Amino acid sequence: MRYKKTASLFVLLLLTGILVSCHFRPKDLMVKRSQLLMGTLVEITVVSDDETRANEAINAAFREIKRLEDIMSTYIPSSDISRVNAAAGLHPVKVHEDLIRAVKRGLEFTELSGGAFNIAMGPAIDLWNVTQSDRIPLQDELEQVRPLLDYRNVIINEQEKTIFLKKKGMKINLGGIGKGFAGDYACRVLKNFGIKGGIVAVAGDVRVFGRKPDGSVWTIGIKHPRNKDDIIAAIHLTDGAVSTSGDYERFFIKKGKRYHHIISPETLQPAQGFQSVSVIAKDAVTSDALSTAIFVLGPKRGKMLLKKHGNILAINVLSSGIIQKLSPGGKTGLDVKIEILK
Ligand code: AMP
Ligand code: MG
Repeated sequence: MRYKKTASLFVLLLLTGILVSCHFRPKDLMVKRSQLLMGTLVEITVVSDDETRANEAINAAFREIKRLEDIMSTYIPSSDISRVNAAAGLHPVKVHEDLIRAVKRGLEFTELSGGAFNIAMGPAIDLWNVTQSDRIPLQDELEQVRPLLDYRNVIINEQEKTIFLKKKGMKINLGGIGKGFAGDYACRVLKNFGIKGGIVAVAGDVRVFGRKPDGSVWTIGIKHPRNKDDIIAAIHLTDGAVSTSGDYERFFIKKGKRYHHIISPETLQPAQGFQSVSVIAKDAVTSDALSTAIFVLGPKRGKMLLKKHGNILAINVLSSGIIQKLSPGGKTGLDVKIEILK
């Protein structure tokens, strides 16, 4: 009898303990903030049971993106990349190892895409200057800079931590890969703060990890390239990245023709064939570089590049408006579900 009483008291205490701990266990919440960085809106969302910690993590992630911008932006005259470009044809420049890493990764994608994604496109990109002007450069002017676009003249010295551009007038431009770097690096910072899940969206480059507070995966919407309020696809993803390259973010229209910011190294004109290319990959550097590369290559060669890489998926809108879903055939290693909504 005495034993029974003690046992039931113990059960009661245990239940109360469970109830109390359930009640007081802090709940996961989502904290979302945005800042203007890299010339665009950066949105960071994190899942955490500690709001103060979440905000500290977000602050650190924003600082990380600012740090990368100060190294990789061609708009900042004192950045490492601007110093390299200013010394083209003159001498190697000592740079931060993150720039060495970014240029090396950039060159890997340049090789992989047969030069379609070309980090040495700076002089041609500057002639077009789509963000600030609506002047169409003469083909002669463009041809004059062609000899300055050879990526084999970008010389990295890893021991010395220097980059040298062999010809005067050469310019590296990491516009097609920099936001991916920002997404990946910012997520690494969040994880170092013990954050369990989050999203870093740097304009059209979105990196996610973990899950939402209710345990569900993240959903990334792909905008219609001709109607911003329309979503053409929903990507459900836990760990990975989605990047979109399009002819609708930075462009001008003259005599009914659209001129945009992604330049073909072959024609030196804005690349043709797509309205947008969205690539899903394990990391944002890959999705960023390959969405730009596939956009440059056009539908046929773009598909070949996707197959060659093997670990990415793509959702493209062709110039005709047709939506195309591409997969390389075999396993991609991505934990993703794609819903085409149109
Ligand atoms: P994204 O929005 O990631 O596709 O990148 C577009 C940006 O990449 C442009 O604004 C340029 O700074 C740069 N870019 C343009 N054409 C090329 C190219 N063929 N290869 C590499 N980067 C490019
Ligand atoms: Mg890109």
